[in-house]
Amino acid sequence: MKIADIQDDIAEELVSKEQIDAKIREVAAQVDRDYAGKDPLLIAVLKGAVNTLAAFSQALSIPVTMDFMSLSSYGSGTVSSGKITVRQDLSTDVKGRHVLIVEDIIDSGITLDWLIKELKRRGAASVEVFALLEKPARHEVHIDVKYKGYEIPDKFVVGFGLDYDERYRNLDSIAVLAPKVYQGEQQ
Ligand code: 5GP
Ligand code: MG
Ligand code: MG
Repeated sequence: MKIADIQDDIAEELVSKEQIDAKIREVAAQVDRDYAGKDPLLIAVLKGAVNTLAAFSQALSIPVTMDFMSLSSYGSGTVSSGKITVRQDLSTDVKGRHVLIVEDIIDSGITLDWLIKELKRRGAASVEVFALLEKPARHEVHIDVKYKGYEIPDKFVVGFGLDYDERYRNLDSIAVLAPKVYQGEQQ
């Protein structure tokens, strides 16, 4: 369903709703096989990964549990500094659990690199990653992503959980905003 107001602010659609659905179903089928009998714990980092977690968890057939974490990375401008602070922690003890981190997008990879190490430090039995989107051109650290979604160019995107100034998270596709949005020229 198109929501006129949001679509008016979109310059270019990079990944359609249909492509998102197809990829999520494909990865879910793989995870159903890989995690059968393992009672996996799905972890999403708030807020961006919420839409991906919701859609992905519903595409799975195996029973899972889910938890959320809020992290902030401080640094200059739009670049992660590597210093991560936990704003809201998990309510689940990950010790001995098979954890699957569900991510919206991997940019520098710094946040995810920190999270993987932290979950292992807490004693998770295994830690794997599903990332719906990746910007390979921006990676600063190498992360083994077992379940990959779409690679996108080095552009700032919104939609399907991703925001610009807290808006556009409810767009059902991945898109690049029109320049007028950044220039504050919205009507
Ligand atoms: P990283 O530590 O990999 O640099 O940061 C990743 C996080 O930054 C993502 O989970 C996401 O919240 C945010 N991010 C990275 N690229 C984009 C983008 O193109 N658009 C939006 N809205 N957020 C992004
Ligand atoms: Mg994220
Ligand atoms: Mg954001």
